[in-house]
Amino acid sequence: MSKRDYYDVLGLDRSAKKEEIKKAYRKLALKYHPDKNKGDKGAEEKFKEASEAYHVLSDDKRKMNYDQFGHSAFQEGGSQGGFGNFDFSSSFSDLFEDVFGDFGDFGFNSARTKRRSNRGSDLRYDVSIDLNDAYSGTEKKINYTTYKKCKTCTGSGAKPGSKPSACSYCGGQGKVRSSQGFFTIQQTCPQCSGEGEKITNPCGSCNGEGKTQSNESVSVKIPKGVDDGTRIRLSGKGEAGSKGGGNGDLYLFISIEPHSIFKRSEENLFYELPISITEAALGTTVEVPSIDGGKTKIKIPSGTQSGKQLRLRGKGMPILRRNISGDLYIRIITEVPTSLSKRQKELLAEFKSLEDMKSNPLMKNFFERAKKFWKN
Ligand SMILES: [Zn+2]
Ligand SMILES: [Zn+2]
Repeated sequence: MSKRDYYDVLGLDRSAKKEEIKKAYRKLALKYHPDKNKGDKGAEEKFKEASEAYHVLSDDKRKMNYDQFGHSAFQEGGSQGGFGNFDFSSSFSDLFEDVFGDFGDFGFNSARTKRRSNRGSDLRYDVSIDLNDAYSGTEKKINYTTYKKCKTCTGSGAKPGSKPSACSYCGGQGKVRSSQGFFTIQQTCPQCSGEGEKITNPCGSCNGEGKTQSNESVSVKIPKGVDDGTRIRLSGKGEAGSKGGGNGDLYLFISIEPHSIFKRSEENLFYELPISITEAALGTTVEVPSIDGGKTKIKIPSGTQSGKQLRLRGKGMPILRRNISGDLYIRIITEVPTSLSKRQKELLAEFKSLEDMKSNPLMKNFFERAKKFWKN
């Protein structure tokens, strides 16, 4: 069966704005929602089709791909992959929340919402390391404060030996129904937040929260090649969830301190190397620093101009999780001497008396052009 165009499905033309896309989907979703069309296969198909179209057209990146490549953008092996295996049930509740927000849930995705809201919060921890550590990788010990599952009540929030009782407001359902216009909306119970039960005898250690504050310490391996802004996720190291919900995650945000010599741009390193005008004129060999802490000998040929850039392959930063490195770029700057001694001045004056244009081709060329210019 060939797929219908997503814009056709939503009854829109291609210039439709975000708001119009949302509105069109909302209308169709209400019309074909399975709760309102029990057992109607046709409605269910229409509902899925509209949801899929909205899933694609509501996302800027997916929409761009679809506008450019049509359905083939999402076929397996296509540039985006993945959409071929659109997980309807899990993607759908996100769509639904996006469109209907606090409008109420239809009992469609309440299990998922409940599970998610019980999950513990994610935590953020900022770590600053120097460039050498980013080069070689390091291990950092991190101390942070979080919430852990209460040991006394093992997270239930109820005093050991006691049991939560059913919520009287919703009769233990966790949901309440109310009429709005021509159909019934099912909403999360405001009394028990959808839990269906209330703790009448709260645990003394955690005041019924099911979790207690705790100082944690964890050792984190920071891989070589991390950059400013790299995030490292420590799964399950965030706050404990409530009432059986999973732990959140701990995110490490890496920042890299500026280095006294090396500047970094992704995997490459840079610095400016000052040399004297005599070294530039006569040529020399200089030992220069590299990020591994070592010295590298570089040859500066005679007649090297200021601004010339040298590249040392593989002397840059390692690339994260790959066994290759960037390069080191060294820009030569010739430094004109300042505060000369009397003798140095004499020698330079003597040198100047011997100067001829032949050894300065750039100057020669420029002033020839200037002469012509002045003649006209
Ligand atoms: Zn407790
Ligand atoms: Zn309730």
